Amino acid sequence: MPEQLEKKLINWASVLEDSTREQAVTTSGLPFIFPHLALMPDAHLGKGATVGSVIPTDRAIIPAAVGVDIGCGMIAVRTQFEVGDLPTDRQSVRTMIESAIPLSAGFYNRDVYAGHTAERIETLRLAADFDLDRYAPNWPMQLGSLGSGNHFIEISVDGEDRVWLFLHSGSRGVGNKIAQHHIKQAQKIMKQYWIDLPDPDLAYLVEGTKEFSSYLAELHWAQAFALANRDEMMDRVVAAVGEWTGATVERELVVNCHHNYTAREKHFGRSVWVSRKGAIDAHEGVWGLIPGSMGTASYVVVGKGNPVALCSAPHGAGRRLSRSAARRQFTADDLRAAMGEIEYRDTDAFVDEIPAAYKDVEQVMADAADLVDIRYRLRQIVNVKG
Ligand code: 5GP
Ligand code: MN
Ligand code: MN
Repeated sequence: MPEQLEKKLINWASVLEDSTREQAVTTSGLPFIFPHLALMPDAHLGKGATVGSVIPTDRAIIPAAVGVDIGCGMIAVRTQFEVGDLPTDRQSVRTMIESAIPLSAGFYNRDVYAGHTAERIETLRLAADFDLDRYAPNWPMQLGSLGSGNHFIEISVDGEDRVWLFLHSGSRGVGNKIAQHHIKQAQKIMKQYWIDLPDPDLAYLVEGTKEFSSYLAELHWAQAFALANRDEMMDRVVAAVGEWTGATVERELVVNCHHNYTAREKHFGRSVWVSRKGAIDAHEGVWGLIPGSMGTASYVVVGKGNPVALCSAPHGAGRRLSRSAARRQFTADDLRAAMGEIEYRDTDAFVDEIPAAYKDVEQVMADAADLVDIRYRLRQIVNVKG
């Protein structure tokens, strides 16, 4: 159940670090927050603004409140397969996925694929009314690439033994360049007007200015790129799984949702800019995805449209330990033990992604009981990290 922490701060997290709480209090004190900031159950410290927070702003936007991975989010597909229909060699499908999609930071496609990619690239090119080349001339090669850290591709199974395909990624290098540019631009404007903020990353752009309009146009483009990026990768995962099983994959249900983005929405009688930084849209009836970690359950949910939560929900379990703290506490052996039977890329690189580095997703879902209904609980059988 939510608790009011400050005049304009309402919290759903039963596990909340003091530093995270302070950061949210600071953000909620900005004069253009309307009606209030909502802290989700997965809330943890972020750069500028808290990850797992919903930041509604009236006639202004804080670019860092959207984050540097504009449009980051999840896509999930429920297939016709039951887990028993799958071949037993899971390493081969993992290898197929790994060769179909460039993984890790800075890895992109070598050339533009035929078919879907070309269409997607043309659509995106036409949608850009700004100079894309100034950010990343190779942006078409970035479409259909995963990225590093906790971006992932998974095969999982629901409570009815049905097989799902699931992946997490955003707007890659080009979205990052766009975000960084506008964060700097906002900071320059703050200096110009002698505006002293408690955190320079809270720099904002004011509606009506040309800098605001330019951010909004480029933000929308990056969000569209992220959606297309996930669609493109899902096509390749579907192709890999088709080859693995020897059968055409049917997509019985598709959910593709952002968790780092801004949308114009009406709350408490006023149209505002709602920035969800590590939060999903949970308007009544809207499908969403809440993953746990590489070794724990993930959830497919439907929003309840809780008005006080600004019709939002958590975007995952949320980090409990920083990457460096997790590396100090755990080893690759610990990760191996936590992963059990799950087929994954067994390297030292992912020790900081160990499930124990995240909050308990079951607690997060309990905290979110008034935000979403659970439709499916998934357990993964294959995990590919970026
Ligand atoms: P973020 O978008 O903030 O980087 O992370 C989203 C959430 O994804 C994390 O809070 C965590 O709960 C979840 N997550 C991270 N890695 C994995 C993974 O490998 N598999 C699944 N299913 N979830 C993950
Ligand atoms: Mn991301
Ligand atoms: Mn993300």
